[in-house]
Amino acid sequence: MKPWIFERQLDELKEELRGAGFRAFTARQVFQWLYHKNNQDPSTWSNIGKADREMIAELYECECRPVLESRGDDQGTRKFLIGLADGLQIEAVLIREKDHYTFCLSTQVGCALDCAFCATGSMGFRRNLSSGEILSQVLTLKKELGDYSGKLNLVLMGMGEPLLNYENLARVLRTISEPDGLNISPRHVTVSTAGILENLKKLEKDFPQVRIAFSLNAPDAILRAELMPLANRENLGDLLAHFREHKRRRRLTCEYVLLAGVNDSPAQARQLVRLLHGIPAKVNLIPYNENPALPFRRPDEATVEKFRAVLVRHGLTVITRWSKGQDIRSACGQLAVSTANS
Ligand code: SAH
Repeated sequence: MKPWIFERQLDELKEELRGAGFRAFTARQVFQWLYHKNNQDPSTWSNIGKADREMIAELYECECRPVLESRGDDQGTRKFLIGLADGLQIEAVLIREKDHYTFCLSTQVGCALDCAFCATGSMGFRRNLSSGEILSQVLTLKKELGDYSGKLNLVLMGMGEPLLNYENLARVLRTISEPDGLNISPRHVTVSTAGILENLKKLEKDFPQVRIAFSLNAPDAILRAELMPLANRENLGDLLAHFREHKRRRRLTCEYVLLAGVNDSPAQARQLVRLLHGIPAKVNLIPYNENPALPFRRPDEATVEKFRAVLVRHGLTVITRWSKGQDIRSACGQLAVSTANS
């Protein structure tokens, strides 16, 4: 089988094409077509000679992974079901915001973390996505936007735990920031993590501009470990100490899924304030997106508002994310292929 061209970083493609007798700048031109122009048909790459184009098409598979199905709502959120070469499927979501678009990308097929409230977790872990499979999602979503050239934010908040797929995540971050390619700065990328400390430190060292969203979801370590089994392996105290000590350019985002009767009381809000003491953070409150197969419920608006008010009174910056895309099951934590066709 031919290698898939999206698995190659620019330096690797340069090396390979040079080895195959191409001129030094061809790899750069290929990157411009693939990523900047979002054109994956070598026969149309007009500034590359015909023989060279044919040779590239012979050496590499150049197509994006296919969209099997897509569903949109009327607020500009659209979910895409994407088919992988081995028959597995993943989801990626395009979200229209006021002045930009957000791409919500998957990093794994399924997820090993098994958070009690999360639909992806309940489908189990299948495998990591390759860097090409993550990049291909970006190109697919970008095709939807025609020649839009405004601001894009990438959030690694789809299926999976990005920091358990670190090497491929790093390859993606290097490739998207290529000036001849997508030219997306790591400043516009948010990695959402349940907290894998060792790899978080690696990410912060390798890509200090990337924004971090930490899925905290509980006001204390015991409840957190009940909701998120990973917390039995990754000590919350160590993570919080790290967030206190590590100086970052952007404030940390703490994500907190509000589950009715579980973690949404005013007393728990006060506990959360104490837990975050000394950490430059803003809090994203996410009223739970219900899934029929899971026992958790979304608190009512008044409860959410009370919880928020406690945090705000204590000086925290809070954003309540009444997620978009609920009716097309593309809201946070609802991505799971087993429900995509239902
Ligand atoms: N594994 C990573 C990224 C995927 S989950 C992480 O844990 O951050 C992305 C976010 O969605 C997390 O903050 C998670 O807590 C939240 N989430 C999961 N299921 C949800 C649901 N049903 N409703 C609202 N948020 C949910």
